[in-house]
Amino acid sequence: MSLRLDGRRLAEELEKRLQFEIKAGIAKAGRPPGLAVIRVGDDPASGVYVSNKEKACARIGVASFGTHLPGTTSLEDVINTIKALNSNENVDGILLQLPLPKGIDEAPLLMTIAPDKDADGLHPLNLGKLLKGESGPRSCTPAGIMALLARNEIPLEGKRAVVIGRSILVGKPMALMLQAANATVTVTHSVTKDLESITRQAEVLVVAAGQAQLIGADHVRPNSVVIDVGIHRLPSGPSIGNKSRTRLCGDVRSDEVSSIVSAITPVPGGVGPMTVAMLLVNTVNRWQEHCGLSCNLGDLLP
Ligand code: NAD
Repeated sequence: MSLRLDGRRLAEELEKRLQFEIKAGIAKAGRPPGLAVIRVGDDPASGVYVSNKEKACARIGVASFGTHLPGTTSLEDVINTIKALNSNENVDGILLQLPLPKGIDEAPLLMTIAPDKDADGLHPLNLGKLLKGESGPRSCTPAGIMALLARNEIPLEGKRAVVIGRSILVGKPMALMLQAANATVTVTHSVTKDLESITRQAEVLVVAAGQAQLIGADHVRPNSVVIDVGIHRLPSGPSIGNKSRTRLCGDVRSDEVSSIVSAITPVPGGVGPMTVAMLLVNTVNRWQEHCGLSCNLGDLLP
């Protein structure tokens, strides 16, 4: 049976470490770290994600400056909200919850977030720093995956890694981080031909296609490590009254793949909790820098 790469457990460990960092620095800083999550509109999944992030902040002593704007808000008003948070000295990190309602373009909004308060690592300047190998806030999902691989002592140097997906949120920064760790990386996408022949070469396979149960036994190399980034809610049986029964699954058919590979992330409980943990890491790291404290979290920012 394969090793279960337990993101929930590691996220709990990281929260304890961050609590320690906050306790150690708060007297000198004179205030706790602050995170502002901006939500625009009423996408129900985003509601759950924002609430999970705010609960995580409360658990470790990060102050939340959440802002929920109606879906009808103009681009200019969202920009003004971001600018106000940029100049709020109690806010160390700002995150714009995606996706935005139709008609609001995310690019100018991500550009408006002050690069040194960019809790999600998606500002073009910070993506450029990642490209150049300079330190800075890192995209939370791929950084969380790197932490999970490191914690489980999975070697990357000289390994063949394949990333499925080339989004700015996951696939592209993931490929850069794996490359920085000296893996030999191939990126595949929706136009890739003969995906299986490429993924079967992977010693480390990161699947971020956003396609439920895309990857099965025929796609994986024996004894490889598989990271399943996808999250999907599928019907799990007939509805009871007007309540539909659902279950969560990833981009990987884990029932087929688990017995072939050496390690795999579960869904839920793998990459998801690590994404939230890395948001906290970025925020506490920004706070340490803003308040002139020593920054001890560099090992988590690949
Ligand atoms: P996206 O839709 O922006 O990008 C998907 C990428 O996959 C694209 O580059 C596309 O070319 C590629 N792709 C699609 N179908 C493919 C196929 N059949 N073969 C090969 N490549 C294919 O999605 P995203 O934002 O990168 O997220 C990917 C998935 O990860 C989604 O399910 C999302 O919900 C999930 N996600 C989870 C977390 C987490 O914390 N667990 C965080 C972010 C995203």
